[in-house]
Amino acid sequence: MSNLTDISYVKGVLGKHGFTFSKALGQNFLINPSVCPKMAEMCGCGEQVGVIEIGPGAGVLTNELAKTAYKVVAVELDKRLLPVLGETLAQHNNIKIINGDAMTLDFVQLIQEEFNGGRVVICANLPYYITSPVIMRLLEEKLPIDSLTVMVQKEAAMRICAAPGTRESGAISAAVHYYAQPELLFKVSAGSFLPAPKVDSAVIRLNIRNQPPVTAADETMFFKVVRAAFLQRRKTLANSLSAGLSMPKADISALLDSIGIPSNARAEEMTMQQFADIANSLSEQEH
Ligand code: SAM
Repeated sequence: MSNLTDISYVKGVLGKHGFTFSKALGQNFLINPSVCPKMAEMCGCGEQVGVIEIGPGAGVLTNELAKTAYKVVAVELDKRLLPVLGETLAQHNNIKIINGDAMTLDFVQLIQEEFNGGRVVICANLPYYITSPVIMRLLEEKLPIDSLTVMVQKEAAMRICAAPGTRESGAISAAVHYYAQPELLFKVSAGSFLPAPKVDSAVIRLNIRNQPPVTAADETMFFKVVRAAFLQRRKTLANSLSAGLSMPKADISALLDSIGIPSNARAEEMTMQQFADIANSLSEQEH
């Protein structure tokens, strides 16, 4: 019988299968036994709510999710972990492991096929090398999920959760806030992982919104503006937008002036509404 809260058991199974950690795949496995039960509890999965996990690793979080959710579908890129998972998760009959890449997998189809219109959440200790692109991909696809609970590096967690208009905010804050209401759940020390990364981590939950908090006539334009605004963080908004959108600075300054935004303002001072106002004015100008 497997005991995934016992690090020597996990190490033993990994060793038996000749597994070595890949830095390139962001393989830092959780060894702090208190973290996974908390994540499983706080992610909202249950008897009526299925869960998708990205990167099960040796299966420590998968095991806790399977105790709580009626069904777990876990997507692992590293084929070498499949026999490990076959052994560590053998006692569960509600887990499906898919060998795939979270960056390219068709999650819309997966949810339809595996959860048949039922409620679903995502829960993962994300590989650090794809934190932002994978989060953005899952949000942009507008998947029929309630929330996304993910472990990310602490810095990334702070940035993602920072409210637009505050000093800590960045392009990812505005992009995430458009689709979800982020919440910082708890912090996790670097020593909770094997091998230990250089920095601490945190678990955040992104509660998917039914409606965006602002109305952007053209969503693509909204995200283009957000990206351009933060492209050169230290510069003024007018300079960043001019460079990022390839438009003369005088035109940008006039546009900002017309909607009451000083052209020497900084991207991090912009609220979601102000980003939407800029995007909507640019869309109008295009027509
Ligand atoms: N969930 C395990 C845990 O908490 O101990 C492992 C987490 S580890 C930070 C990230 C996991 O994601 C690894 O198992 C790694 O092989 C897997 N992974 C890396 N890139 C991936 C990708 N593009 N798609 C799916 N899984 C990936």
